[in-house]
Amino acid sequence: MTNNDLVAAIEGQGYRLTAPRLRVLESIAGRDTNFTAEEVCADVPGVGRATVFRTLKLLVERGLLCKMILHDGSPRYSFPLTGHHHHLVCVSCGAITEFQESEIEQLLSQLGVSKAGTIVGHRIEVYVVCPTCQVRYGGHAKPELPISAGVSS
Ligand SMILES: [Zn+2]
Ligand SMILES: [Zn+2]
Ligand SMILES: [Zn+2]
Repeated sequence: MTNNDLVAAIEGQGYRLTAPRLRVLESIAGRDTNFTAEEVCADVPGVGRATVFRTLKLLVERGLLCKMILHDGSPRYSFPLTGHHHHLVCVSCGAITEFQESEIEQLLSQLGVSKAGTIVGHRIEVYVVCPTCQVRYGGHAKPELPISAGVSS
């Protein structure tokens, strides 16, 4: 995503693009690795944290930015590469990749019909030890990595 893409998308939605918001967009445009809100805050001194968080939230709501929850519960952001997708998150190095799986979508739509009510959205993060880390650590996460809640093997 270029800065112009982001600006056009926000203005196209009828949002007023204030100078601080523009600085946030300039900071994140073109990033090709995932990032935290804290990193953005550090990159735009003088822009309030609330503005940074609100701008990121707006982009997530508009589908322009992905928000992922790491295995330790901390949020990270990245620009989506494909349409509807889910995330593979490496618990060892933090690398995030996208995946699409039609069987998951079918399963969820069946669940909606049977008992869950009307499903209006979902988010799936799958925690893995990525191929690079498997080679590096012999199939395991980094030895010093704490085993945290939500990750079982
Ligand atoms: Zn994504
Ligand atoms: Zn990894
Ligand atoms: Zn899905």
